[in-house]
Amino acid sequence: MSDYLIKALGYDGTVRAYAIRSTMMVQEAASKHDTWRTVTAALGRALSAGTMMGAMLKGEEKLTIKIEGSGPASPIIIDANSRGEARGYVSNPHVDPERKSNGKLNVSAAVGEQGYLSVVKDLGMRENFTGSVPIVSGELAEDFTYYFATSEQTPSSVALGVIVGEGDKVEAAGGFILQMMPGVTDETIDEIENRLSGVPPISTLIQEGLTPEEILNQLLGEDNVQILDTMGVQFQCQCSKERIGRAIIGLEEKDIRDMIEVDEGAETHCHFCNEQYLFSKGELEEILKEKQNLSGN
Ligand SMILES: [Zn+2]
Repeated sequence: MSDYLIKALGYDGTVRAYAIRSTMMVQEAASKHDTWRTVTAALGRALSAGTMMGAMLKGEEKLTIKIEGSGPASPIIIDANSRGEARGYVSNPHVDPERKSNGKLNVSAAVGEQGYLSVVKDLGMRENFTGSVPIVSGELAEDFTYYFATSEQTPSSVALGVIVGEGDKVEAAGGFILQMMPGVTDETIDEIENRLSGVPPISTLIQEGLTPEEILNQLLGEDNVQILDTMGVQFQCQCSKERIGRAIIGLEEKDIRDMIEVDEGAETHCHFCNEQYLFSKGELEEILKEKQNLSGN
């Protein structure tokens, strides 16, 4: 039962569809960041959306989603690429708002009902594409729907769900994105709206264990779904000691000297995956030497 996503077309190519099962990657994110249940849901929803949006990219393209809400868990940052790899973190994993009156986790209370959602796409060109929209609900699926409509002029339907069970374990996570392409007929839009209103909420579908294929069959009709691609997805950080070392080279010489002489070493961690990296005095001296060589001193 590993995680994966599918890309599909429906209605003669006028509807583009993505569906993901992200249970394991959301559990991994939650474990790495020690998130409490509501934050697990918030981070998991954002990670699921980000991974599907990454799958819309090509080759070496990548994107970063920044959710700067007014709530205590924000900002939430997600990085994703076109190969099904994503990583992310929240500023405060230990937020525990009360459940809503219907028993659901109150994600918008953790994220915030005001603020901004922005997406920066690195398309390998000189200028990045940046789109930013105000947060409209803080529950995130609505916010991504609003982002696609406003910033990318693509009418879309986004659903995201994370089920957190006993012991804050992620029981199921997933979601879908349906996008109306140019040329879509009013008839198709009406039919999809009808179907969407008759389908149980995404949290029910994923709790019942529906696969991404089964979810799209429910949404678009079995005869209508043309699957283009199936891709494994995972929580994957790009950090390494070497990369962090290069970041240290970029610091002021005085600060590196302080690390050597005052702190006698450096302990640093990656925001995205919480991995700790330790640099000994000797390693920092090497880094300082390298910096001096680079600057020609
Ligand atoms: Zn990392």
